[in-house]
Order: sequence, then structure tokens, then C-alpha cells
Amino acid sequence: MTLNQERNFSTKGKTKEEAGGHIYDMIIIGGGPAGYTAALYALRAGLDAVVLEKLSAGGQMALTGQIDNYPGFEEGIDGFTLGEKMRKGAQRFGAVSRFTEVLSAELSGAVKQVSARDGLYQGRTVVLATGAGPRELGVEGEKELAGKGIHYCAACDGMFYKGRTVAVIGGGNTAAADALLLSRICEKVILVHRRDTLRAEKIYRAPLQEAANVEFIWNSTVTKLIPEERVRGIRLKDTRTGKEQEVSCDGVFIAVGRKPATELVKGQLSLDPAGYVEADESTRSSLPGVFAAGDVRAKALRQIVTAVADGAMAVHFAEEYLA
Ligand code: NAP
Repeated sequence: MTLNQERNFSTKGKTKEEAGGHIYDMIIIGGGPAGYTAALYALRAGLDAVVLEKLSAGGQMALTGQIDNYPGFEEGIDGFTLGEKMRKGAQRFGAVSRFTEVLSAELSGAVKQVSARDGLYQGRTVVLATGAGPRELGVEGEKELAGKGIHYCAACDGMFYKGRTVAVIGGGNTAAADALLLSRICEKVILVHRRDTLRAEKIYRAPLQEAANVEFIWNSTVTKLIPEERVRGIRLKDTRTGKEQEVSCDGVFIAVGRKPATELVKGQLSLDPAGYVEADESTRSSLPGVFAAGDVRAKALRQIVTAVADGAMAVHFAEEYLA
């Protein structure tokens, strides 16, 4: 069945699930690398699976301009294209995608119930591949200024700051990659980190140090995002001396880590203290028939390669469970 046929499979406003009480072998929530790898493996294993995804294939990966650490692409590849390739690769074996938002899920029974904007989905197994989104800084002015100079994705919003001055907050790979990307667009990039060295990998550090328009402010935390109509600057506090200073900028890109998308399953599955789903390499969660794949799972290394590995593992152990 093609994507369009599946979308049109509704009678008198009811979805296929409501009309026919269809029960899938597997409902995959999330269309990133983990979700589409699970779909590919599920379809190749002859399982009846559906992918529920909100916007477009690729998840957070789709927002990454250049990916050089996913093997098989000697020139690298942009995340959006890689996401599309993963979707098409799964669809070649008949994978069906539904562009919908999952509102709630009841995962404890033998038949899992997933309620989405376009109706109720029922499945014998669920692969939770909802990923993780950017974490907020949690300082004064952040909520009020969202969309008014405060951003969480340089690849998405960086072009608004051509020839201007921006601050990047954080010291990990995301902050470093964002600062590098912005240094090619903006007049000046101010990277603010609460320590005296970056946590980011070496590969980012040298080009950042060499970029003439990148200034580092070390040992500093943001205490306030200074508002006018839009953000006009940040107030910083030196972590060693306690001294405060104000720095002017036209935009602020916050890159202080990720928060897992586990709202749907809170109270149903075991989560670690940071909110990630507790599951080992088998991806089996604390609930039988529910698997956690990709960035949403508690793990040491969150990369595309580890997400796709999880997708394959989830199907392997789901098949074992279904048998
Ligand atoms: P991350 O590695 O957790 O780094 C978060 C950074 O934000 C850290 O430097 C941390 O400081 C800082 N931070 C956290 N809370 C803060 C606060 N309240 N105020 C100020 N600073 C704060 O997160 P990430 O950079 O988003 O990366 C997430 C995952 O994606 C990682 O596993 C990363 O390797 C991966 N990733 C990989 C690539 C790549 O391979 N090309 C690119 C992007 C992301 P401390 O250093 O003091 O803890």
C-alpha cells in the first residue's frame, strides 16, 4: 500500500483503525534515524508496521547542515537529505508513514493503544523513537523572548543574522558546531561557556580557535536575557569572581544539551533521572512489548550510528517478543 493509499483509507471521517479495529505488529513513534531503521527492518521481517511522525523524516538530524560521521558518504551529507533517504529506503519495502502527532499512549496491555490527532492506532509492540529536543537554559527572559532573538537551532535560524552579532551558549558539540556555522554568516560570534575548556570534540575546536570573528567568554553563566522588543544582550556572571557584565548581541543561540521526548510515557516506563527511557542495548524497556530506540534511550553515545543500531535491535527483540 502506498503512502497516499494509506492516507485515503478512511470511511466517513474515521481512520482505518477506528473503522476496522486494525492491530499492527508494530507502531513506531518517531521518524528519525532510529524510527526509519526500525521500519526498514520490520518490513523486511514481514511485520505489519506503521511510522507515526510529526513533520518530516529525519527528526533532529534533519536540522543538521553537514553530517560527516555517518559512514558511506565520502563527501558527507546534509541531515534533511539523509532523513529522506532513510524514509525512502524503508518505503521501498512497503513502510507506511503517517504525518500525525501522538497525543497519548496506553502501553501496558497486550494490545498497545496509541492515540494520535488522526485517530487511534493499536499495536502488539511499540518502538518509541521520539528522540530528544533542545534543553532550555531556564533563565529570566527566555520564555518571553522565544522567537524574538532567542533560538535553539543555528541551522534553522542562523541566516536571519547575516552580518550581525550573536551569542552561542554552551560548550558541547552542538554549541561548537553552531558557533562554527554562525561564524560563516555573522559578523561576530560570542561563545559563552561556563567552564574554561570546551567539552566539544577536537575536530570542532581548531577551526573555532582559528575563526577570526569568534570570541570566547569562559567561566561564565547567563543570568538574564536582556529584553527590549527583541533580545538586545545577555547578562553574564563570572563563575570564579561572581562579577557580572552585560554583553550586547542581536541574537542568542542556546545549545546547552538535550531533553528526551518522554512526556508520552512518563509514569508508564522506567526513566533515568534525566528522563531518558531505561533500556539496555536490547532496547527493551521496563514494559513488555515496548522498545526505546535512538536518542530517547539512556545511553553513553547519542549519534546517528547508535540510533540506527537501536532501530535494528528493537525489531530483533520485538520479533522475539511477538513469537
Ligand atoms: P552536551 O554534550 O550535553 O553539552 C551541553 C553543553 O551545555 C555542555 O558544555 C554543558 O556544560 C553546557 N550546559 C548545560 N547546561 C548548562 C547551563 N544551564 N548553563 C550553561 N551551560 C550549560 O549537549 P549537545 O552539545 O547538545 O550534544 C548532545 C549530544 O549530541 C551529544 O552526545 C553530542 O556528542 C551529540 N552531537 C554530536 C555531534 C557530532 O558528532 N557532530 C553534533 C552535535 C551533537 P558542561 O560542559 O559544563 O557540562
